[in-house]
Amino acid sequence: MKSIHQTLCILLISGAVCFTASAQTTVPKKNYTLVIHGGAGNITASNLPAEIAAQYKSELSEVLRHGDSILRDGGTSIDAVESCVRMMEDCPLFNAGKGAVFTAEGKNELDAAIMDGKTGLAGAVAGVTTIKNPISAARAVMEKSNHVMMAGKGAEVFAAENGLEIVDPTYFFTQNRWNDYLKAKSKADSISNIDKKHGTVGCVAVDIYGNLAAATSTGGMTLKKYGRIGDSPIIGAGTYADNASCAISATGHGEFFIRNVVAYDIAALMKYKGLPLAEAANEVVMQKLRQQGGAGGIIGVDAKGNYTMTFNTAGMFRGYIKSDGEMKVGMFMEE
Ligand code: ASP
Repeated sequence: MKSIHQTLCILLISGAVCFTASAQTTVPKKNYTLVIHGGAGNITASNLPAEIAAQYKSELSEVLRHGDSILRDGGTSIDAVESCVRMMEDCPLFNAGKGAVFTAEGKNELDAAIMDGKTGLAGAVAGVTTIKNPISAARAVMEKSNHVMMAGKGAEVFAAENGLEIVDPTYFFTQNRWNDYLKAKSKADSISNIDKKHGTVGCVAVDIYGNLAAATSTGGMTLKKYGRIGDSPIIGAGTYADNASCAISATGHGEFFIRNVVAYDIAALMKYKGLPLAEAANEVVMQKLRQQGGAGGIIGVDAKGNYTMTFNTAGMFRGYIKSDGEMKVGMFMEE
């Protein structure tokens, strides 16, 4: 009797274990999508030497694969966007972190922002000159302060206090950007008719939990005046994320993106007018901005994994990767 009872118990327990195991494996994991940009502008096959184009392509692909490895293992979208933007900040090809463009005074002043679509929390830094990875400082502002945005010296002190890497301002120097600066300086004294290439970087993602995040980092625009702040660190202008609508990162002529609250405008069209992501982006970037002469583009993703890479310039460094392995990198309009 006792042994029958024991056998029954064992059967019941192992059945429960089996049920639990199969219940776990059959829980459907949501799909993830990650999108990046490395700036928009007059990027055409004729003005980008093949050798440089290949460098951009390879770097963009590497960043996408990096983001993919985070999301595939169940990492969060906020971790993925920060990490991908850090990689691009460290790469001298882009106008963010090392390789940032120069202000009218020949300095590098950096802006960055990050937003978590799940919590609605956001962080940003503006006009910083010594923080190696401004995007991580933006995240620290979001997570370790009661504020959303910190600028200049205060942001730098805060970053140092929170253990972020501080560098000498000369760290950001690259000869290529300096040459661009000298050329721009000899041709113009206004930012409106120069720098037809915007090399800001950004990343948006939806993770397997269905949470959205957006991050943007930039050196701004060549020959910008002291203290000028662009759209990238302004929540709702160059960066925005809300699980209920979309995550957006922008690049382009910042003043237009600020005045048109571009990232939030796209989210609002989805939320209040029920437009799909691509249509909302089209209305804002291809119509509203274009009519005003506001050059640039955006990347966006929604909670279902739909994505868009919409730009009204000749090109935009861009790419996406999805959980089913689909991946694409592009630079020019026709790609
Ligand atoms: N949007 C940036 C700014 O105006 C520039 C860029 O995207 O390259 O600061």
